[in-house]
Amino acid sequence: MAVQSCPLTRRVIALVESGATIDQAAQRCHLHPSSAYRRLLAANVRSTRSWTRLSAPEVQRIRTLIDSDHSRREVARVTGRGLGTVARVAMAAQRDPDDDAPRRVRSAVRCGGCGYLVTVQPCVICAARGR
Ligand SMILES: [Zn+2]
Repeated sequence: MAVQSCPLTRRVIALVESGATIDQAAQRCHLHPSSAYRRLLAANVRSTRSWTRLSAPEVQRIRTLIDSDHSRREVARVTGRGLGTVARVAMAAQRDPDDDAPRRVRSAVRCGGCGYLVTVQPCVICAARGR
């Protein structure tokens, strides 16, 4: 294919295949990210890092950062994901029924069990009282 013979395209492909994000590869090759993305599409190369799906380690990293009290904006900047993506992960983490570890919530809520304002769910006061 003519596109694959272009040295710049080969460089973008090599970078992405070695684990760089498309943004990083584009920056290293002085290309616009959409140009790097189009070159990858034309060469039929799939990025190891999906634009649309988060990998399990990525989700875990976002959750860990949110739990360690970073703002969503900070987490988005550090992970290179969008604010909406981080917000979705944060909301999914609050809903996850399989994970019963206490999670910090951004604003205090009234506990239905003990009536205290709590910032961690499930409520640690109710847990300590055995309810
Ligand atoms: Zn409670």
